Amino acid sequence: MADPKGFLTTSRQEWPRRPVEERVQDWDEVYVPGALLPIISRQANRCMDCGIPFCHDACPLGNLIPEWNDLVSREDWRAASERLHATNNFPEFTGRLCPAPCEAGCVLAINQPAVTIKNVEAAIADRAWADGLTPPRPPDRLSGRTVAVVGSGPAGLAAAQQLTRVGHTVAVYERDDRIGGLMRYGIPAFKMEKVHLERRLGQMEAEGTKFRPGTAIGRDIGAEELRARYDAVVLAVGATAWRELPVSGRELTGIHQAMEYLPLANRVCEGDLDISPLSARGKHVVIVGGGDTGADCLGTAVREGAASVTQLDIYPQPATERTETDPWPTYPKIYRLSAAHEEARDLATAPAADADARLFAASTLRFTGDESGHVRALHLVEVDAARRPRPGTERTLPADLVLLALGFSGPDRGDGLIDQLGLALDERGVIARDAGFATNVPGVFAAGDAARGQSLIVWAIAEGRAVAAAVDRHLTGSDRLPAPIGPYDMPLRA
Ligand SMILES: Cc1cc2nc3c(=O)[nH]c(=O)nc-3n(C[C@H](O)[C@H](O)[C@H](O)COP(=O)(O)OP(=O)(O)OC[C@H]3O[C@@H](n4cnc5c(N)ncnc54)[C@H](O)[C@@H]3O)c2cc1C
Ligand code: SF4
Repeated sequence: MADPKGFLTTSRQEWPRRPVEERVQDWDEVYVPGALLPIISRQANRCMDCGIPFCHDACPLGNLIPEWNDLVSREDWRAASERLHATNNFPEFTGRLCPAPCEAGCVLAINQPAVTIKNVEAAIADRAWADGLTPPRPPDRLSGRTVAVVGSGPAGLAAAQQLTRVGHTVAVYERDDRIGGLMRYGIPAFKMEKVHLERRLGQMEAEGTKFRPGTAIGRDIGAEELRARYDAVVLAVGATAWRELPVSGRELTGIHQAMEYLPLANRVCEGDLDISPLSARGKHVVIVGGGDTGADCLGTAVREGAASVTQLDIYPQPATERTETDPWPTYPKIYRLSAAHEEARDLATAPAADADARLFAASTLRFTGDESGHVRALHLVEVDAARRPRPGTERTLPADLVLLALGFSGPDRGDGLIDQLGLALDERGVIARDAGFATNVPGVFAAGDAARGQSLIVWAIAEGRAVAAAVDRHLTGSDRLPAPIGPYDMPLRA
């Protein structure tokens, strides 16, 4: 470390966010542009180089965090970028979107605020792009082997980049009209602007990866035909089959799934639409589901000019500090205030809510509508930890637009891919695979949410890197590609 006592003399400072009133007027990232670089070297210098870096284990990619903290504290951006890209294909994605389990495992976090690891990662990635340190790395020679990757989310893209760079000819098939998976049409631009995605796609294209958007495997090209065309197939089709809310009134108009709503808002940002057909403008919005997808709906509805927005979470409000069931260095379930929650709180979008825009321990009983069949109210009841209703706690919220953000059960079967290949699923309904990421169909591998179940960008990139290693071994017998995780690895748990 440039200063071994940095953690004693410098306090934690995060990448500042723009004022709420300013940022809800646009779709740009919530951070103050240019405000990270001036503070980040001192922040990186808070790393104690503790000797047994739990942050390293807590990161599914095995990012070499203490090493690049040291390099950033010395402002050696070139070496920092090399160390970071050695384990992470897309650090500008994780530097913005990762919930940072590494910071929960930081040794400093035992009795002080953790090092701002995620911010350091974003700073290295952004600086690397600005300084031209991320040129395309095409292979020296081609292997003559071909791989089809189905699905262009972070798992598919990481797999494709790894396999292209060792000389295989890789085509990425995507049923949407643009490449990117949930980073394209799910995650809003205020969390990560699409320029970061475009830049990586440009790098990948220059390295030789082929992109085939607008092509659903199973529908536009038969799954067996694809298998016959390529030496190996990687299925990275995500887990986009959404969960339903089977209560009375669900059939009313104005009740939509989050992933029906968010893609339309993202299409407005892409310039495809002037206004979203599901825009929240002037409406009373209720979001059912307390997770990150719900928070993305919240931030989107606020920017669209909703009359009010409330988010319902069936779980009780978590504690603000770790409890005994969530000891260090695990990622704790604690009360967190995302940028969207901060906006909703400051703008008082939900006068009926108990905390920022959220109602905790809230279970939806039914919806009621007007004579035209449009939803107008959501009826809820408070529940205990076992989800038993508390008598006398029924409430009614005005609701013209209801967004269901209840999670995802597994890969979507609508295109026929799974049935055409005769893929085995496991008891959770995701694609089953062996310890080498191989499915029951020879030459077909599976990675990302499609096989792990609904997860995170960082796990998807780790899955993509690991499945690439397995496919390369299958094609060439080589162990040259790194595999940061096995298919059954799980986050650190108590
Ligand atoms: C709204 C939302 C917000 C999120 N926010 C975050 C966040 O902030 N941080 C975080 O870490 N994680 C977040 N996640 C989770 C994260 O996005 C996923 O874990 C990750 O994208 C999974 O990557 P993947 O590559 O496995 O699949 P996906 O990103 O889901 O990509 C799969 C792709 O496969 C395509 N596909 C499916 N079937 C076919 C077919 N038959 N033919 C061709 N293409 C097909 C799909 O169209 C899709 O584009 C969020 C998820 C959602 C829904
Ligand atoms: S990818 Fe996530 S867990 Fe890994 S170092 Fe970055 S922020 Fe931390």
